[in-house]
Amino acid sequence: MEVSFSKEIELLRLGEGDSFHGEGILAITKALLQAGVSYVGGYQGAPVSHLLDVMVQAKPLMDELGVHVEACSNEASAAAMLGASLHYPMRGAVTWKSIVGTNVAADALSNLSSPGVVGGALIVVGEDYGEGASVIQERTHAYALKSTMCLLDPRPDLEVMTRMVEKGFELSEASNMPAILELRIRACHVRGSFKTRNNRAPALSTRSLMNDPAGFDYMRLAHPPVTFRHEKLKSEARIPAARRFIVEHGLNELKPGQHQDLGIVVQGGLYNALLRSLQQLGLADALGNSAIPLLVLNVTYPLVPQQVADFCRGKRGVIVVEEGQPEYIEQDIATQLRRLDIQTPLHGKDWLPQGGEYSVEVLTTGLSAFVDRYLPGQSAATQQWMKANRERREAVAQVLQQPLPARPPGFCIGCPERPVFSALKLTQQELGPVHIAADIGCHAFGTFEPFSMGHSILGYGMSLASRAGVSPMMQRRTLAIMGDGGFWHNGLLTGVQSALFNGDDAVLLIFKNGYTSATGTQDIISTPGELAKQAASDKQQSLAHTNQTIESTLKGLGVQWMRTVHSYEVEQMRQTLKEAFTSPFNGLKVIVAEGECQLERQRRIKPWIASLLKRGERVVRVKYGVDEDVCTGDHACIRLSGCPTLTLKDNPDPLKVDPVATVIDGCVGCGLCGANAHAATLCPSFYRAEVIQHPRWHERLWTRLRRSFIQALQPA
Ligand code: SF4
Ligand code: SF4
Repeated sequence: MEVSFSKEIELLRLGEGDSFHGEGILAITKALLQAGVSYVGGYQGAPVSHLLDVMVQAKPLMDELGVHVEACSNEASAAAMLGASLHYPMRGAVTWKSIVGTNVAADALSNLSSPGVVGGALIVVGEDYGEGASVIQERTHAYALKSTMCLLDPRPDLEVMTRMVEKGFELSEASNMPAILELRIRACHVRGSFKTRNNRAPALSTRSLMNDPAGFDYMRLAHPPVTFRHEKLKSEARIPAARRFIVEHGLNELKPGQHQDLGIVVQGGLYNALLRSLQQLGLADALGNSAIPLLVLNVTYPLVPQQVADFCRGKRGVIVVEEGQPEYIEQDIATQLRRLDIQTPLHGKDWLPQGGEYSVEVLTTGLSAFVDRYLPGQSAATQQWMKANRERREAVAQVLQQPLPARPPGFCIGCPERPVFSALKLTQQELGPVHIAADIGCHAFGTFEPFSMGHSILGYGMSLASRAGVSPMMQRRTLAIMGDGGFWHNGLLTGVQSALFNGDDAVLLIFKNGYTSATGTQDIISTPGELAKQAASDKQQSLAHTNQTIESTLKGLGVQWMRTVHSYEVEQMRQTLKEAFTSPFNGLKVIVAEGECQLERQRRIKPWIASLLKRGERVVRVKYGVDEDVCTGDHACIRLSGCPTLTLKDNPDPLKVDPVATVIDGCVGCGLCGANAHAATLCPSFYRAEVIQHPRWHERLWTRLRRSFIQALQPA
């Protein structure tokens, strides 16, 4: 990965009484070091990638402290890493994107939670829910409930968030339950300050090794018959211990308010949005003081029945502000109140939406109903605000006449994956449509226009496995698409191994771009080494064939039909796909589409080109263009490419109405335009130009001669 986190790493070195200013997720990273964590692992994914990326780059600091950092191959291996805290009094933290990562980690989490931990185990999950989320809309809460793990949902304030890291470890140790710290997207990116403390070198670490392993203890294994005892321990000892700790350390916050006969129970993570909404309702001031008493749940599981009962008792009405479905907290509170025969009316999902992000506007709509019932007349000012919002939207829509065009995300300019979809489009035009099992990764952009390819996405690295039930029923062969990130995450075992074992007649296309690009271009085992990158930069070459780990792994497993094609070679890719779909070979056929992630390539070569120019050395840059006199205006090239820098402009010929294609600034000269024109025999309007900076003397001379010759041919 070419991104440098040197500034962030400096923040991790802050000491006692210093002030940290920055993003929530970096504050959490710093808090882990302050809490004396011994080991950290995880699998990258927004919105928590930063935690692991920074720690991986902060190796010298981690070595000083004796903290081990592991970039795990997937979330299951990260969760299994917490096994270190089963026997040893070591604090460990792992991180991933939820819900998808928690799904992958579920088996190890069950096996960890059953025996329980002695060292604090903290799982920092990015709760990718609501606006901007990129995964299935489900809640991590379900896993905390089913495996009996504490669930922390801290108020998005850096002081609170960092305190909850420290307390999360202590809570885990006091209750023997692993603890999940869930951070919504906005909490990860919230900016603020907190007073730092010195980093704490852990007692057991890479610099302070254990002499002997722990003694054998069958209770530490998730095996029968002790699993039956574990289940009893969860309810008889661990949950009560967690509840005691939550109360004794004041983890949940009680905020008083003048309307003592009402109450709001809120997940800590929603506190800021709730306060803003109460302001709109005239029920909170600019300093965040609420007129309605609040119970802020920084720990959403387990709830403390006595605390909830004390808060609700004697009130005219209480509303639970809980995002996502189902309403686990509301149901839990309702049960507790019923058991204690407390008759306080309880509201929540009756007035707030079942699903979706609780933005300030959504919250205000739901809370208005609560306020109208219990504080009649109070929401009048809010109705004005909501009406003004509606009117503003309508006014904007009128000015625009028609809705703004959708701007779905797409491949980067020059992405090596786009040409493969062009080739696949051409192949299907010839052979007919094929069932395409898509996957997680940048290549999922192939599901958008102009490609619209992919029948299913069943999980990261699951494409080959997900076609297993389809391909035996289909006349034409099916195609599974997978990235190199997905291949190592899961695809090798769930897909390739299974297809080989069952002798499946399947086609697998692996995008080998060298990184897990979609999660932030982190390195993987098949990432080219630094020396290879340097050599490629020096010679302005691609990184193709410099790391053969995927190919040798596939060969070692017994794959007999394998082709490697440079991804920008559209015609060769088309031929290879055709061969794979029509070959008499009845078994797994693998096409490796090799082409370095353009984002990483540009990060690598831009500084290098800048250094060449600074030294006055010759630099050649390739640009593509469209000859507007030749362009027929049928736009077949655009339908085959989708590159944002290949677009339209008015036809300069007054006798033609169709706009012509044009290549705008930003073209990185990947060559796809030319390759597509050749493979699809399009109109010959594309030209390739070489822009030479600091040319050699003979190149200047040639240019002058050429110019003079052309001028001589032109009429005066
Ligand atoms: S990050 Fe890399 S692989 Fe992903 S779309 Fe951009 S260029 Fe393509
Ligand atoms: S050559 Fe074509 S596809 Fe490649 S970056 Fe330029 S305009 Fe886009």
